Amino acid sequence: MNLRCDLHSHSTVSDGTLSPTELVQRAFEKGVEMLALTDHDATEGLHEAAAHANKLGIQFVPGIELSVTWSHQTVHIVGLGINPDDVPLNNGLKELRDFRGRRGEEIARKLEKAGLEKPLEGAQKFANGEILSRTHFARYLVEQGRAKDMRQVFKRFLVKGKPGYVAGNWASLEDALSWIHGAGGIAVIAHPARYKFSATRLRQLISEFKDLGGLGFEAISGSHSPEEEERMARLANQFELFVSKGSDFHSPENVYRELGYMPDIPAHCVPLWHSDSWKEKIGDYK
Ligand code: AMP
Ligand code: MN
Ligand code: MN
Ligand code: MN
Repeated sequence: MNLRCDLHSHSTVSDGTLSPTELVQRAFEKGVEMLALTDHDATEGLHEAAAHANKLGIQFVPGIELSVTWSHQTVHIVGLGINPDDVPLNNGLKELRDFRGRRGEEIARKLEKAGLEKPLEGAQKFANGEILSRTHFARYLVEQGRAKDMRQVFKRFLVKGKPGYVAGNWASLEDALSWIHGAGGIAVIAHPARYKFSATRLRQLISEFKDLGGLGFEAISGSHSPEEEERMARLANQFELFVSKGSDFHSPENVYRELGYMPDIPAHCVPLWHSDSWKEKIGDYK
């Protein structure tokens, strides 16, 4: 029960600042026993991370964080235990990344209008991996002195109603779950307290997710407050979902929560790694 695990993290393949190897190394040094790398819409880091985890003797779970548009909002679905080389999954990812490319150009045009110089080149400089993220634009804006930190920069430039905002047009919930399941994985609703849905809408999301075979709910997230964690844990129980936990670690400079440093799953909940599906698909936890 007190397994030190972290089932949500990012590397330079998406919008993190550590390479897959460096991320695994850091997790190991922080005492993490089981780690999932879940880059946004990309599987490219998984073989490298798995190889390093193998060398260090920590359990590695290959994962992904898929961008989904549901009810006109962006929702993130984590897939755990996926085969990184699954063809339909990678075909789906290609569509998402094509959209990221087009969206990046549009964000850049808008930021140029707001007076920023060469925003596309600037963001790309920070993106040494496979995908272009708002995080990369944010790092460039901070570098250019347009805001003092990442939180401010999102608030002022990159969210709805702000100069660099472009609406998402991501995968459907149905496609995301079918790609994850097709690749042998387990689906998890990421950081559920972060969405700006009414309580009713959130319940509707969870119902649809369950109907599509989704099993996990990330009640314990680096982006949740203790109160949100409690509320989300109760919701997981109401819907009989298994609880997952992940720091959503991106970089040592911007730590909401350190890799692996999160509270235990509440005793009244069932951890995802205790589910039959986990045992079947991912194997025994230590
Ligand atoms: P994208 O998928 O390109 O739209 O970018 C979303 C990413 O931006 C998230 O995965 C976070 O890493 C980051 N992000 C979103 N909102 C914020 C925020 N308020 N502060 C810092 N990072 C954020
Ligand atoms: Mn991110
Ligand atoms: Mn996310
Ligand atoms: Mn994430």
